[in-house]
Amino acid sequence: MPSAPHAAARRVVVGAGAAGFFGAIACAEADPGTEVTLYEATAHPLAKVRVSGGGRCNVTHACFDPRELARHYPRGGRELIGPLTRFGPAETVAWFAGRGVELKAERDGRMFPVTDSSATIVECLRRAAEGAGVRLVTGCGVRSVKRREAGGFDVELSSGERVAAGRVLLASGGAKGGAGASLAEALGHAVVPPVPSLFTFHVDDPRLRGLEGLCAQEAGAAVKGSRLRQAGPVLVTHWGLSGPCILKLSAWGARELHAADYRFTLVVNWAEPASTEEARSALEADRASHPRRQVSTANGFVIPSRLWERLVGAAGVAPAATWANVSNEALRSLALQVTACELAVEGKSMNKEEFVTCGGVRLDGVDMATMESRTCPGLHFAGEVLDIDGVTGGFNFQAAWTTGWQAGRAMARP
Ligand SMILES: Cc1cc2nc3c(=O)[nH]c(=O)nc-3n(C[C@H](O)[C@H](O)[C@H](O)COP(=O)(O)OP(=O)(O)OC[C@H]3O[C@@H](n4cnc5c(N)ncnc54)[C@H](O)[C@@H]3O)c2cc1C
Repeated sequence: MPSAPHAAARRVVVGAGAAGFFGAIACAEADPGTEVTLYEATAHPLAKVRVSGGGRCNVTHACFDPRELARHYPRGGRELIGPLTRFGPAETVAWFAGRGVELKAERDGRMFPVTDSSATIVECLRRAAEGAGVRLVTGCGVRSVKRREAGGFDVELSSGERVAAGRVLLASGGAKGGAGASLAEALGHAVVPPVPSLFTFHVDDPRLRGLEGLCAQEAGAAVKGSRLRQAGPVLVTHWGLSGPCILKLSAWGARELHAADYRFTLVVNWAEPASTEEARSALEADRASHPRRQVSTANGFVIPSRLWERLVGAAGVAPAATWANVSNEALRSLALQVTACELAVEGKSMNKEEFVTCGGVRLDGVDMATMESRTCPGLHFAGEVLDIDGVTGGFNFQAAWTTGWQAGRAMARP
């Protein structure tokens, strides 16, 4: 049986990612008398922070209304409203500013360090942890966490060593590998099975071939036969489609698309928000006013011209045809290509910029004010180990800061 003079005052944090660091710092700063040890299984703490946002780290999102912000979380949004009220993006910005790191907002709301380097965030977190007296142990995983009858926990490390702790924070990240989820399950918590979120779609279609790099700024996409629908820029890649619209769709449809084995029909509106009827009327008006104009160069929509040419061809209109040569049937077909372009999706790829796990520790087993287990007192959760995930744009780190901060503050209590 491990014994230590101050075992009850000892706090163990499992996982040195964004949530674990934030939790450890918040706990150590709130009560300098507690001994906080942060165990990281790998040799690389904050590895995801370092690679995040294409190396720039999209720290949070410039949305300061908790209810509005919560709408960006396909899972956990409702439960996050309270926590975001206590520690949201404004508090995140102030937290980093207070430690010498200024954040800037881009036009789409994403917030990055002004240095545009994730190293700034990594260094800030490491300095803050060191300054607060957090002990970081790398290359040392937590193998098991067991409740002690007398209160507190026995924590078994990958080295075989066992330590006693009054409180434990499980911040072991997404369920890839399942370590955190199995630790939580062993302590009686239900876990929603993990599936990926934030991925891109494989599409091999002649209409898109050779167009990689092209971006339709005003687009919408829906999964045929479902209610899944999103709007925003759609990017053509080597493998198919990506961009904010597709990533949002993948996040909201993470479970449904997984169940479909990522094979489904995608319906793209390249002229969002126009309906097929509106597009047909606009095309008819073009035909009436410019009968001698060549259709393939007469793009009246905000559609990239090379894509427009493909859509015109797919509607059966010859490349050199003028509007006067376009039949009503071809015009209807073109309106459908523009607003309801059906593409077969046959698989997915991870998005290199950001990906997360959908699923994790069920939130009904967790007190969202303290992030403490409802059934196992002294056990706290933060970050991606929870069944919370956001769309791309800084929302996932915000969830890690919010839940980490709350857990850390609550763990400072005896
Ligand atoms: C490539 C990429 C880019 C991203 N970019 C962004 C972005 O710009 N903005 C954004 O908001 N989100 C981004 N995300 C998502 C974001 O990184 C995660 O949501 C966030 O890192 C979750 O933090 P976390 O601390 O919960 O988990 P993690 O960062 O995964 O950290 C968990 C840590 O726990 C360790 N661990 C696991 N099990 C054990 C164990 N048993 N014992 C000890 N240690 C253990 C792991 O090794 C890991 O270091 C990105 C994700 C990826 C993959």
